[in-house]
Amino acid sequence: MPIKKYIPLALKKRARALQKQVKLINSKCYCPVCEAKVSSFLPLPEFFLENQQKYGFPYPSDEAETCNEAAYLCPLCGASDRDRLYALFLGDYIASLESVCPIQIVDFAPSEALSAFIRRLIKSSGKDVRYRTADLLAENVDDQVDIADLRSYENDQFAFFICSHVLEHVPDDKKALRELHRILKPGGKGILMVPIILSIGEIDEAPEVNDEEERWRRFGQFDHVRLYSKSGFLARVRDAGFEVNELGKEFFDEELFKRTGISNQSVLYIVEK
Ligand SMILES: [Zn+2]
Repeated sequence: MPIKKYIPLALKKRARALQKQVKLINSKCYCPVCEAKVSSFLPLPEFFLENQQKYGFPYPSDEAETCNEAAYLCPLCGASDRDRLYALFLGDYIASLESVCPIQIVDFAPSEALSAFIRRLIKSSGKDVRYRTADLLAENVDDQVDIADLRSYENDQFAFFICSHVLEHVPDDKKALRELHRILKPGGKGILMVPIILSIGEIDEAPEVNDEEERWRRFGQFDHVRLYSKSGFLARVRDAGFEVNELGKEFFDEELFKRTGISNQSVLYIVEK
């Protein structure tokens, strides 16, 4: 009887998965969110740059810390460069979890592509990870909540949160940061990201301004109420009680950033309670 008949099915499956992984890693570009090979990524939609120009937003996109204008969207799943950055981190994070205890994750204003990736990741890990989505306005989420008033969540409830590009929309971001700190377990972590302009020294904010043209001009988008400087963002996050880890190209590897369409000056902020 040929030997290959005795190779267990699970091993064959594993070998096929590894072959697929090697193929993806060897390709020029790949998207870690939909886990597919792509020939290139799509640029930032013109709508943003056109309006920024029209209303006189003075900062070019290369002054933004984590934003790859030229390779912004995955043509297959629509993941942005920052979603791809989170996927690189989350793969290892879920794999590192101890399988014994149930853990809770909450994702604020979830990105559709990343959310689907996280659900697949949790399912394939076989671990008891309970993932919820939350948003103030969207209806297709588990919880409709205001991030500055998370009274439906208990103290120390979550082991991990994702809060990406939310705080720049929130009138009182300091209150939101205190709430995020309250709902996180001691030792818990979170992905905490805002658009940062590297060339400014201080935060510019005006939650009272409702004029969309002025918001385009000052903050770069019609529904943003502030523009973060790096030092201003870090100070607010630390004031809320978090420790901050900055993970950039040295952590992830420059070649991996290149293949996944993430710019070299991108930084992932992992906060810890
Ligand atoms: Zn994709």
